Amino acid sequence: MKNKIRVRFAPSPTGIMHLGNVRAALMNYLFARQKNGTFVLRMEDTDTQRNVVEAEKKIIIHLKWLGLGYDEGPLAGGEYGPYFQTERTQLYAEKLTELAGHNKAYRCFCSKERLDTMRERQRAAGQPPRYDRTCALISEDKIQRKLDAKLPYIWRVKVNEHQILDIKDLAKGTISFEMKNFSDFAITRQDGSFTFIFTNFVDDWLMEISHVIRGEDHLSNTALQAALYDAFMLKLPTFWHLPIICNQNGEKLSKRDFGFTLHDLQNAGFLPQAIVNYLTIIGGSFEKEIQSVHDFAQTFNFEKIPSSSSIKYDLEKLTWINHQWVSKLADHELIASVMPYVHEAHPESVTLNQEKLNELIIAIKPEIKTLVEVKQLLAFYFQDPRFDANLFKSTMGDNAEKILDLIRSELHSVEKPEEFLKELKAKIKASDLKMKEVLSSVRYILAETFSGIGMNDLFKLLEPEKIRKRLQKALN
Ligand code: GLU
Repeated sequence: MKNKIRVRFAPSPTGIMHLGNVRAALMNYLFARQKNGTFVLRMEDTDTQRNVVEAEKKIIIHLKWLGLGYDEGPLAGGEYGPYFQTERTQLYAEKLTELAGHNKAYRCFCSKERLDTMRERQRAAGQPPRYDRTCALISEDKIQRKLDAKLPYIWRVKVNEHQILDIKDLAKGTISFEMKNFSDFAITRQDGSFTFIFTNFVDDWLMEISHVIRGEDHLSNTALQAALYDAFMLKLPTFWHLPIICNQNGEKLSKRDFGFTLHDLQNAGFLPQAIVNYLTIIGGSFEKEIQSVHDFAQTFNFEKIPSSSSIKYDLEKLTWINHQWVSKLADHELIASVMPYVHEAHPESVTLNQEKLNELIIAIKPEIKTLVEVKQLLAFYFQDPRFDANLFKSTMGDNAEKILDLIRSELHSVEKPEEFLKELKAKIKASDLKMKEVLSSVRYILAETFSGIGMNDLFKLLEPEKIRKRLQKALN
């Protein structure tokens, strides 16, 4: 049976899904699953100027790809709908009427110019910018005259500057907001539409959200929303303000940082399991780091959350986690996932028989950290290697010529690769060269790499004809 734990992911469809969004969705999801609660998806699409076409569809597709299914929301429906804010205007209007009826909000007719000048003046005087309440004090008559004259206005909420409002945060404990630090804030725009502060509050209230889990960047909004809960005499939800994800220099992660968007990571062949795994453990310490989202939902400790306000994004760690998840994939899953990359990088793979392709992919499986790497890892098979004599010499040093001579001396058996390899090894043993240096030279000649793929694999995967051609080309 579902209890009254209700959480929500409330993205604005204004652009790309980035890791901050994904982490917010994930933490809401984990919380709901662990507590047998309800996970709601709500589209905060009221800022129609900033909405991006198809962004809503993409959010839904991304959540599905990540395995973060929601219980209520667009398409899924639910008792608390509609789940698009643009379809909830009537509800916001009703709540505004209530607020105004209790004399807790007022119309503000001040022009933008007046507000700008005031702000400038305050700044120059070293005061915090705040609205001076001119419009809170005008008479009913005067208001009516302005309305008759069709002067544009917005609604502001009266902030009680003597008040201190406390909220409960899962990571930070109690946070107190001194309301004297906040100005009377706008809840509508001049075109009559409602601001984020208000719609987000009304919906959390009407959708009976018990826990608001979102980015730390919303903390100052929370103070204003706490004032709204107070104005309507409502019980506040519990909050969890998630730390901001920063790059290695400690700056807020941005589009310039690779891996900021989900799109980046998808393109580079990161698996959804790895992304949610990484974003679950980022900033925390876990005995068992590699776990599925389902397992984390059982064990994640929401009672003991570190209270840092930023965490560092570590692409290397994410890559390591991805490597672990790639190795967990069944061969057929891996093959299906990498095939588009293989075909894209090596078009001739389209005509290769599937069995051979499977064999190639399984052979490189232990090396694959991100799926896109298959392009490079399979290049040895599809592309004729280039023998760079200078590079070879500088790598092998004084022994370079001797090594080539030794390999050359065995060329007669190259029609039978197994024999070639066996006899070559015997010759190395009898010489003063090291097994490793000669074999990695053979690898370089055959695959243009000194390390990586195992020699036996190489001889198994490359057809004898290919082996012969490549050796002869480099050595003759
Ligand atoms: N639409 C807001 C955002 O995308 C939602 C914030 C919240 O979760 O309350 O940042």
